[in-house]
Amino acid sequence: MKFLKYFFVALLSIVVTLIAVNQYVPVLIDVPKKDRLLVDFNFGKEITNKELIPVERKAKNIILLIGDGMGSNQIVAYKIAKEGPNAITAFDMFPVSGLVKTHAYNTVVTDSASSATAYSSGTKTINRYVGVDHEKNPVTNITELLHKKAYVNSIIATSEITHATPAAFAVHTESRYNTDAIAEQIFYSNNYFVLGGGSDFFKPKEDGGLREDGKDYLSKIKTDAILLETKNDLVNHRFKKGKKIFGLFNKEELIREAHEPSLKEMLDFALVNSNSMLEQGCKGFFIMAEGSQIDWEGHDNDFYGQYDEIEEFENAIKSALAFAKNRQDTLVLVTADHETGGLLIEKDTLRYKETNQMKVSWNTAIGKGDHTGAMVPIFAYGPGSVNFTGILDNTDIFFAMQEAIGINDLPEGICY
Ligand SMILES: [Zn+2]
Repeated sequence: MKFLKYFFVALLSIVVTLIAVNQYVPVLIDVPKKDRLLVDFNFGKEITNKELIPVERKAKNIILLIGDGMGSNQIVAYKIAKEGPNAITAFDMFPVSGLVKTHAYNTVVTDSASSATAYSSGTKTINRYVGVDHEKNPVTNITELLHKKAYVNSIIATSEITHATPAAFAVHTESRYNTDAIAEQIFYSNNYFVLGGGSDFFKPKEDGGLREDGKDYLSKIKTDAILLETKNDLVNHRFKKGKKIFGLFNKEELIREAHEPSLKEMLDFALVNSNSMLEQGCKGFFIMAEGSQIDWEGHDNDFYGQYDEIEEFENAIKSALAFAKNRQDTLVLVTADHETGGLLIEKDTLRYKETNQMKVSWNTAIGKGDHTGAMVPIFAYGPGSVNFTGILDNTDIFFAMQEAIGINDLPEGICY
């Protein structure tokens, strides 16, 4: 009897302590169990694309900057951490903005492969699919269309160049993980400037690379194209039209070693040399440059890591805007493929007091974050930007880019 009494007293005190601790310092014991509700809906897969406003004064060039995993909260949290809530950054310099729905063909939450395929080809597809529709049929991408209109194309990324987003602007495969096929197709693609990481995906395993099929595209690049391997190679390269340029600055993704160029430096290279291609017969240029690792830091729930990635991305935006402002013939688009991590800026406990602190949290505070189905912003500057307002489907971007340059009225031609 006595034992039972002590037992109940002990049990009661444990319960009271737990309740009290949970009340005042929930972080100690509260595994964030967010309310999760499965909401049924009817997945109407038919897409109604936005009616485009005819663009009078056409753009000649397009610079599409994709911050992988960069939702609006990533941008605002970056701005606040940088210079406070009143900060004016490159993101604030765009006269036009809109919101992009990012869902995939059959799921609410997309991956980069499906979302980049929507941007590159105007086609909703299944996650993991790159440059093919939901039935695995290849779909024509914008670099293929533009190549036939005498355009010069570039793909740039801070990940390996074979990663899903850049790949969607070059290849057609049912899996983003078919890296042998992706590297091979990138080698043969219409992209003249290919800049990023990932040299090992062009090199056979036997030679220390990652290719299972034994094919050696790195050697082929060295003979049939030009290979740049360091920032010095890039900066000092004296461009002459003739051979495609592959800048592969690390074995896999860029890891921010001193010998690697930044996203801005890669973009500047593509801008300057695409421009010189215009002087040598090309009619316009298209550049897709991706801040690839914003997404990875979101997956890792690493705010400061993400801050650095967005800062690097912002530097590239500044370059693109400076280029476009000088000429008034270039459409600059800044967007994301999806949001990653469910980043929140939460009310802190000092809401009624002045504070210099921002409380950020991720959707999955314990464990790693993942993509969300949130809409992402799009910012536009230059001719044709009128169509990047309101709510857009991610496939609308493909059609609005074509309207911006008036692709149907451009004469056929090939400039390389
Ligand atoms: Zn991701």
